[in-house]
Amino acid sequence: MRAQPKASHFVNGAWMEDEAGDALIVTYPGTGEVIAKLHAATPAVIDAAIEGAVQAQKDWAALRPVERGRVLTRAVAIIRERAEELAQLETLDTGKPIQETREADWPSGAEALEYFAGLAPTLTGETMPLGGDFAYTIREPLGVCAGIGAWNYPSQIACWKAAPALSTGNAMVFKPSEMTPLGALRLAEIFIEAGMPAGVFNVVQGFGPVGAALSSDPRIAKVSLTGSVPTGRKVYQAAAAGMKHVTMELGGKSPLIVFEDADLESAIGAAMLGNFYSSGQICSNGTRVFVQKGIKEAFLARLKERTEKIVAGDPLDEATQFGPLISAAQFDKVMSYIETAKDEGARLVCGGSAGNEGPLFVQPTVFADVTDAMTIARKEIFGPVMSVLEFETEEDVIARANDTQFGLAAGVFTGDLARGHRVVGQLQAGTTWINAYNLTPVEMPFGAVKQSGFGRENSRAAVEHYTQLKSVYVGMGPVESPY
Ligand code: NAD
Repeated sequence: MRAQPKASHFVNGAWMEDEAGDALIVTYPGTGEVIAKLHAATPAVIDAAIEGAVQAQKDWAALRPVERGRVLTRAVAIIRERAEELAQLETLDTGKPIQETREADWPSGAEALEYFAGLAPTLTGETMPLGGDFAYTIREPLGVCAGIGAWNYPSQIACWKAAPALSTGNAMVFKPSEMTPLGALRLAEIFIEAGMPAGVFNVVQGFGPVGAALSSDPRIAKVSLTGSVPTGRKVYQAAAAGMKHVTMELGGKSPLIVFEDADLESAIGAAMLGNFYSSGQICSNGTRVFVQKGIKEAFLARLKERTEKIVAGDPLDEATQFGPLISAAQFDKVMSYIETAKDEGARLVCGGSAGNEGPLFVQPTVFADVTDAMTIARKEIFGPVMSVLEFETEEDVIARANDTQFGLAAGVFTGDLARGHRVVGQLQAGTTWINAYNLTPVEMPFGAVKQSGFGRENSRAAVEHYTQLKSVYVGMGPVESPY
């Protein structure tokens, strides 16, 4: 097995195994080859991880922020030295093309660590003069945070959660998705190599129940989930019992609006990026592409031409631009949405079938004449299926774009920047783009509104979700008491 780690879990600075846990078999989605055999965490493993984090957190929080930042910066250097090896591992774990995992996954994770390592030492409280007295605030860590990840960007998600949490003095117990358990273990190892004290960052493997155990444990102060809306509801409920802080990065059905005056090649390129990168398994994808009537047929013709040139193949092959889905369950789900779209009368422009490169491939697929009521315009598919919808007026498209329970992302393509700002101003989404799509630099807050979640990752805003303010009132004179 070519990606077998030394053990399933990384707890308190060391590898840990408990074979009593349920089997967790890891396959390379490119071929179905078994690449690792692990076990889900038992209650004993979960307990050891949380307890280790509780013990480690106090000393970690007592360090100066610049000292914590130095450890994270060393981890960044190690990640960059091992970029190729880490990209290969990410491709084995996820099935995403090596072109993508070299460009996006660990590099984005490393940038988050770099950014928060530098940001944490700049955080300060405020001072409030109050006549003769005064007050000040201290930004304190929450304690032990749980991170629960999805399978589409496993290492990036681990880094995006660990970076703001650890830089501000929290410890973390991270549970990767059961589909992609390998990257987070590597991150835990790298942190130790970089000088992080044992117990500050722990990884436990497992299915939903392990995430549920973390979400309800009284020693956990905060849960940050990246996952689907139904899982978000469960985690939110479990966290509510203990009044825990939560960050929810959930699913979407985001609109990408293309006006007649847009640069057509750019808009088409963005629509493809926002539907076919990672085989469409991206939460913020612009899966409802609203194209203004006058350019719709030209848009579709060029989109078809460019989509049919996408190179699908073995994800480890340098030339491959498009890989398989993560699992047989995801493949079946995506194929069934494609069949439903055909049954409901959407016009198939290209794709629409399983790919012949391997068992989990679905062709990049475009449907036109999609109406707002069709299933593929309402449900998150999480696969390479683009819906093109026609619109006529700005007012109409804004209303239709907002007619969804989701509110993760939105994009607008137009040559009229005033219109771009006006339209995004009215779109109900946490993350929006004008003449760009799916770019998520660490400097910019990333997050959602409505049922797609709340809280923000990246940027200075993330710090607020991993810290709490303590107010200190300082009396400078005798206390005036009525008694
Ligand atoms: P999922 O909801 O099935 O699982 C996510 C994680 O939650 C996994 O680690 C899983 O084991 C865990 N989990 C499952 N049940 C749980 C429970 N009851 N308590 C605690 N944890 C539990 O999601 P997925 O299929 O892994 O990922 C796809 C979904 O994630 C999509 O909806 C996608 O849009 C979303 N996603 C969102 C973002 C974002 O940043 N907004 C990013 C990536 C993926």
